[in-house]
Amino acid sequence: MRPERESGGRAGGAPGDVTMRADAPATSGDPSPRSATIGNPPGRAATLGAALDGAVARLRKSGSETARLDAELLVAHAVGTDRTGVLAHPEVGLPPHAAALLEEYVGRRERGEPVAYIRGIKEFHGLAFTVDARALIPRPDTELLVDIGASRVVAALTASPRSPGGERLRVVDVGTGSGAVAVALAATLRRRRILDEVDLLATDVSADALELAVENAAAHGLADAIRFARADLLPAGEPPFDLVLANLPYVPSGDLPRLPVAASFEPTLALDGGADGLEAVRRLLGLLPEALRVPGTALLEIGAGEDDGLRAAADRVLPGWELTFHPDLAGIPRVAELAASAGARR
Ligand code: GLN
Repeated sequence: MRPERESGGRAGGAPGDVTMRADAPATSGDPSPRSATIGNPPGRAATLGAALDGAVARLRKSGSETARLDAELLVAHAVGTDRTGVLAHPEVGLPPHAAALLEEYVGRRERGEPVAYIRGIKEFHGLAFTVDARALIPRPDTELLVDIGASRVVAALTASPRSPGGERLRVVDVGTGSGAVAVALAATLRRRRILDEVDLLATDVSADALELAVENAAAHGLADAIRFARADLLPAGEPPFDLVLANLPYVPSGDLPRLPVAASFEPTLALDGGADGLEAVRRLLGLLPEALRVPGTALLEIGAGEDDGLRAAADRVLPGWELTFHPDLAGIPRVAELAASAGARR
């Protein structure tokens, strides 16, 4: 059971937001499978509303659990508007070039490609991120990591304010992927006007992912606010950090074939956490006694059911450190928080 969805969220799939067309039957929020547009390929649909219905029917048939949301996003993308535009103007004609694009997009989605890759964009923490096969698509669960990270930065700076020109709070996002965590954190700190007090590093072992992360930082005006380094976890020669954040690959290798087909379009490197899912996380735990200051905090995202394994590993490598789990919206322990203790230093 994985709470994650590939298409961009669950809300749009809800019945009730569908019958906005004046000519739609008033009886049901869920379009009838006998709808007039079935079998009418979106390429030949005359209006946005009809194109939408046709796309929903095809995506539902192909097995998408979020067919309506997928279709709304893809029609909007083909037309160059947003979902609201599509829902508000079902009577508007679909221009031929948009019909051709939509045909391509629906075909790709039918073959399992995530909507985020087709659109090239995924919203995360209120920001739009460029996404493609270079990195994992940011998941809504990971917004928790950003929120806790931001509040730990605020707490640390409140406890010991930085003098201008003095040493900044040292933060690292390990395995940054698309850059979503580092960029969303930096954007949050900028809004709170404390970004200047933080030295933020983002690392990834994949050169492709780093390139994408740099593009996303630049797109949000944060290219100068984040240092990027290619490294397997942490680069050599970095002084210890006050805060370590990481959303490392944590899917057990054996579970990879059971992920939604959309995940097969994402880099395996970003998902595969080895036999029990915790291999990369354990390697990072082993670095923490050197990599974290005291006091210092590590925030690690983990998969469903991995909290016991993480606790066992932390007991072994980080004796005396305090460990807390933060649940996601589904109540699953999602972020492990470790507070560095001097006792664990050798
Ligand atoms: N949450 C992702 C998934 O289950 C996994 C992300 C990760 O391994 N860090 O598809």
